[in-house]
Amino acid sequence: MPYIDPNKINRIVVKVGSSTLTHETGKLNLRRINKLAEALSDLKNSGHEVVLVTSGAVAAGAAKLCLRERPRETVEKQAAAAVGQCTLMHLYDKALSEYGAVTAQVLLTRDIVDNATSRQNAANTFRCLLDHGVIPVVNENDSVSTYELENLVSFGDNDRLGANVAVLCEADLLIILSDINGFYDSDPRENDEAKLIPVVTEIDDGLRGLAGGAGALGTGGMAAKLAAAELAMAAGVNVVLADGSDPNILIDICSGRARGTLFRAKEGVRKQ
Ligand code: GLU
Repeated sequence: MPYIDPNKINRIVVKVGSSTLTHETGKLNLRRINKLAEALSDLKNSGHEVVLVTSGAVAAGAAKLCLRERPRETVEKQAAAAVGQCTLMHLYDKALSEYGAVTAQVLLTRDIVDNATSRQNAANTFRCLLDHGVIPVVNENDSVSTYELENLVSFGDNDRLGANVAVLCEADLLIILSDINGFYDSDPRENDEAKLIPVVTEIDDGLRGLAGGAGALGTGGMAAKLAAAELAMAAGVNVVLADGSDPNILIDICSGRARGTLFRAKEGVRKQ
């Protein structure tokens, strides 16, 4: 079976996390954002439909407000996100415009999962934006969502948001760019012998244990990535988890080159 057939990849959702978009200082990694914009614009120029799901609002806002560390209180995070979202959109708009691409800001809440009307509205908006050749830039509407996962009014993390957007847009591929190069059989930061799992066809308790169990790969949010992959796979969307340090990896993946870990979509669930 080929890795991913590039001829079958048209609509792509790319999710990029805060750790990929920021330096260790907490400030935005401007070069990476520019390279990401270049890769996304090039994918669009080569005929793909592209959606970006981006984190980084809280981080950008915290840096702009000169906070010494990432805020912990919900209200502080929400305020930081409100500040940072402007900065993020400004940078994406500027960078994507440089490459001739048009962008749009789409801020979502869990309503797109819980409320059929909101879901349909969001799906229609994405459809229309993509028909106009726009690259939508999506984040959670952090200032109205509540962060704590137990409240179940937020996506909890942008990996799940990315998977929901990929399903909503009926994407062919979700690429999760992270500071880890794929899914390993043990934590590569602690174990030199850790082996990358190149292809996952089914997520079972064994894998979930690797992602979220004691001493796991988990601190970087691997359990969330696995949950996101599971949601997308079940809806017939292929998922690749890959290292985001060089955004050109997006071009490799969309050309069918094996990178990171492929979570293979369940067959037969997509409308043809
Ligand atoms: N929406 C948050 C932000 O933009 C990030 C949430 C996440 O990365 O999981 O900062």
